Amino acid sequence: REARGDGRKSETIKVVFRVRPLSSKEKQNGCKIATIVHEKDGVIEIRDPSGSEGETSKTFTFDAVFSENSTQRHIYDVCAAPVVKSVLEGYNGTVFAYGQTGSGKTHTMEGVTSNMSLRGIIPNAFEQIFDHIALNGSYDKYLVRASYFEIYNEEIIDLLAKSSPRLELHESDSGAVFVKDLTGVVVKSVAEIDNVLQKGKKNRSVGATLMNAESSRSHSIFSIVVECCSNDGQKEHIRVGKLNLVDLAGSERQSKTGATGERLKEATKINLSLSALGNVISALVDGKSNHIPYRDSKLTRILQDSLGGNTKTVMCANAGPADYNYEESLSTLRYANRAK
Ligand code: ADP
Ligand code: MG
Repeated sequence: REARGDGRKSETIKVVFRVRPLSSKEKQNGCKIATIVHEKDGVIEIRDPSGSEGETSKTFTFDAVFSENSTQRHIYDVCAAPVVKSVLEGYNGTVFAYGQTGSGKTHTMEGVTSNMSLRGIIPNAFEQIFDHIALNGSYDKYLVRASYFEIYNEEIIDLLAKSSPRLELHESDSGAVFVKDLTGVVVKSVAEIDNVLQKGKKNRSVGATLMNAESSRSHSIFSIVVECCSNDGQKEHIRVGKLNLVDLAGSERQSKTGATGERLKEATKINLSLSALGNVISALVDGKSNHIPYRDSKLTRILQDSLGGNTKTVMCANAGPADYNYEESLSTLRYANRAK
């Protein structure tokens, strides 16, 4: 990818943290809160419920933190809108949701698509992209393509495939990594791209049932490629930006789930790819390492062209507030803190 000479800061990685509200069941059970969100300072404080009084509280600082009262819209505006904006300008970008199962990843990424105020990042991105296209002249200047796939057990599964959904990674002579034969659906409106999302989601749950897996055991990636063709009277210019919206597999450790056999193998692969992602992000943030370990997992290989360089990346870590989640929430805080 060619470097641009427009003096833009080449690389931006943001790490934010969101704590969901107690669920009604957690309230009924009288769960206590272990996390305190200091929004103004960008700090999450977590208290060890088993600790005695005194030095039981730890704090972590992020680029932004969101309490149970934060709205979907606010999270979109802070986390995702700048990434989508730069994709529309021809750069790549990625938004991740990280956290244990039940922490709010899918709520953050998708939310309730039918409810305006509960819509998550993905449907809001659809809106921003097509609003931009409507405001910037003719639709025939733009080509928007959507893909939707998951990585389960280090296998790539096309959620939009008509047949043979299992796909392979290929590398071109120039070193570009791509998923061979991945379906890309051309979409011309919010309704059309939303259809693609719904169709893929349906395939996801069918596939998960067939494989006897839960969707929380796979990473799902919704990718949108926006091509814009402009003509200054002499020459055609084509700008291409790609947006990846990633709902990561649950980060819970296996001591808790007591997995054995196939499930344990699955879990090992999940842990491996999440730690590979953490390593890539922390190497990029660090900026000193000249080796970025993209090759260590399928996820990081596929996203290589959208992590680092001229791209924008947002990692949104999610956690539940209850004290029985203490260990997992602490491990999510540590992961996100390292990625910062
Ligand atoms: P995950 O995808 O991480 O497993 P979910 O997004 O499915 O978790 O969230 C678990 C439950 O908590 C869902 O019922 C979801 O609607 C609810 N939930 C998560 N985050 C929020 C939030 N910020 N506000 C209200 N409900 C939430
Ligand atoms: Mg989920």
